[in-house]
Amino acid sequence: MFSKSEIINLLKDESQNDWLFSYADKIRQKYVGDKVHLRGLIEFSNICKCTCKYCGLRYENKDLKRYRISSNEILKYAKNAVSLGYKTLVLQSGEDSFYTQEILVPLIKEIKKLDVTLTLSIGERSFEDYKAFRNAGADRYLIRIETTDRNLYKELHPNMSFENRLRCLSDLRKLGFEVGSGCLIGLPNQTIESIADDILFFKENNFDMIGVGPFIPHPQTPLNNSKQGSFELALKVMAIIRIMLPDINIPATTAMETLNPNGRIIALKSGANVVMPNVTTKEYRKKYEIYPNKICINENPDKCRFCIENKIKSIGRTISNDYGFRIKT
Ligand code: SAH
Repeated sequence: MFSKSEIINLLKDESQNDWLFSYADKIRQKYVGDKVHLRGLIEFSNICKCTCKYCGLRYENKDLKRYRISSNEILKYAKNAVSLGYKTLVLQSGEDSFYTQEILVPLIKEIKKLDVTLTLSIGERSFEDYKAFRNAGADRYLIRIETTDRNLYKELHPNMSFENRLRCLSDLRKLGFEVGSGCLIGLPNQTIESIADDILFFKENNFDMIGVGPFIPHPQTPLNNSKQGSFELALKVMAIIRIMLPDINIPATTAMETLNPNGRIIALKSGANVVMPNVTTKEYRKKYEIYPNKICINENPDKCRFCIENKIKSIGRTISNDYGFRIKT
C-alpha cells in the first residue's frame, strides 16, 4: 500500500505514468473483471440552493434556465432506461428542497418496482431523509467530498461545512447504503499533498465507489478565469485509487471525456470499470451545466447506450448484466 510520500512521488513523477496506468488496469482485471457496469443517469433538477464556486448550477448563476422534472416524467425516463438494459439508475440533482421525502419516497418505490438498483446523488440531507430514502429502497448514494483540504473546502463552499459533509457520509454508511465519494482535481490552490490526503481519506473510509474528475472552469462562476484541471493528473489519481482500493467501483467520468475525446476509454484502461451515460433527452442535458462543453448534449438515450457499448466492445470488454454491487474481496 502506498504511503503519503509515495503517492506524492507518483503524482509528481511523469516517468511513472505508463507503469501506473497498466498496473491499475491489471488490478482492475484481477479484482473486478472485464465487465463494465453501466449506470443510467437522470439529472432531474438543476435548481440548487448552494453556491459552490466551481459549479455552474450554483444559485447565483442567474443566466441558467432552470428546470425540474416531475415524478411521472422521471419514471418515464427510468422505464426507457430499463428497456435499454440498464441495471442501475442514478437520480442526480442540485440541492433542490422541492424534492421532499413526500415526493421522493413514492418515486423511489416506483423505480424499485422496475427491478433495478437505485443510486441517489442529491446532496446533503438530514439523517431522517436518508433513512426514509433507504427504507423506500434506494441502494446507493453518491456524495463527493470534493476536497479534504479544509481551508480550500471552506473557500470553495460558502455557507457549507466540511463537518456536515462528513456527517452525511457517515449517516449514509450507518444506514447501509453503498456509499460513493470522490474529489475534483485541479481546483485553484489545491496542492498535490492535499490530493494525496484525499486518496488516503478514501482508503481510510473504504468507500464502495470513488469518482474523480478534473475541474473544468465554468464561465458563469467566480472561478471562470481559473486554470482547468489536468486530465492526466485526474487519471493518475484514479489509477492510484484502483491500486489502493482494488475491489471498488470506479467510474470513467464524463468530465474526463470532456477534456479528452477518448477520455472514458482511456480511463477504462487505467483502472475504471463503470460508465454513467445520460438517459434523459436533450431538452435537459444542456441545462444541467455543472461545467461547460458537456458531452452528448444533443444525443438521446438509445444512441448513448449503443455508442458506449461499441466503444467498450472495441477494447475487448463487455457490458455487465448484473446489478453491479461492490463485491468485497
Ligand atoms: N448536488 C449533488 C450533485 C452535484 S453535481 C451533490 O452535491 O452531491 C456532481 C459533481 O459534479 C459534484 O460532486 C462535483 O464534483 C462535480 N462538478 C461540479 N462542478 C464542476 C466543474 N466545474 N468541473 C468539474 N466537475 C464539477
